[in-house]
Amino acid sequence: RIVYVNGEYLPEENAKVSVFDRGFLFADGVYEVTSVLGGKLIDFAGHAKRLQRSLDELDMPAPDAMGDLLEIHRELLARNEIEDGLVYLQITRGAAADRDFAFPGDDVKPTLVLFTQSKPGLADSPAAKVGIKVISIEDIRWGRRDIKTVQLLYPSMGKMMAKKAGADDAWMIEDGFVTEGTSNNAYIVTGNKIVTRHLGNEILHGITRAAVLRFAREAQMEVEERAFTIDEAKEADEAFITSASTFVMPVVNIDGTDLGDATPGPVAARLREIYLDESRKTAV
Ligand code: PMP
Repeated sequence: RIVYVNGEYLPEENAKVSVFDRGFLFADGVYEVTSVLGGKLIDFAGHAKRLQRSLDELDMPAPDAMGDLLEIHRELLARNEIEDGLVYLQITRGAAADRDFAFPGDDVKPTLVLFTQSKPGLADSPAAKVGIKVISIEDIRWGRRDIKTVQLLYPSMGKMMAKKAGADDAWMIEDGFVTEGTSNNAYIVTGNKIVTRHLGNEILHGITRAAVLRFAREAQMEVEERAFTIDEAKEADEAFITSASTFVMPVVNIDGTDLGDATPGPVAARLREIYLDESRKTAV
């Protein structure tokens, strides 16, 4: 695989990042994952905009190549012959001379890394036909989940807790309300109304979430952005998650409780179809 590191396209075995890189030492980095269907990037503009916001919120300098990100994504897709898959992008605050909690000065340049992941048939995932199971866990992450940082240890632990429990993912609970999944936004459907948590510092502002809510409203579906409890979710007609890598994915079981007949519901199925159709049209 050919990867991109600070201006160079290299075979992955030749790519290097310093042991003093602040991404490595302090999780002082931000990232984006953009999906690729038919060789084209889904919602590239949305991801680029959120990336800039993450940098701004952390006072992290943008790399010189910030204006060339689309070109770099395309070059990597071409060099790795990706039809369906993902592009992972990470920016860290770079490698300072020594390990120091304080941010380094302007002389230290940010580190920019991108790589591709080939996932043939990404949009035809078998999981979308049967749905996934989630468990609920406490949300003990930091208070700025709206910033897409590489500080992902607790979400990784949550995924492992889910696996151990025989489930696919975990929904996190704070003050009695669902925040989001370990790597996705969470939704329930009750009587044709789509409910998902309102935006704030408590959740990542999903690019897929924004698109799905827009398409839902355009299709005259009712949307309510508010917090919901896990008990409300267990009583719901349907549930689903969204993310760049899973698009719209039905949830059929929460903490061992089946939703309806434990098959993907019509609203989730329809939204998945609309999302895939519409976002393919604007892919670049
Ligand atoms: N929430 C969290 C915590 C995530 O990690 C992600 C995916 N990175 C999402 C939501 C979904 O965001 P997006 O639709 O932009 O992939």
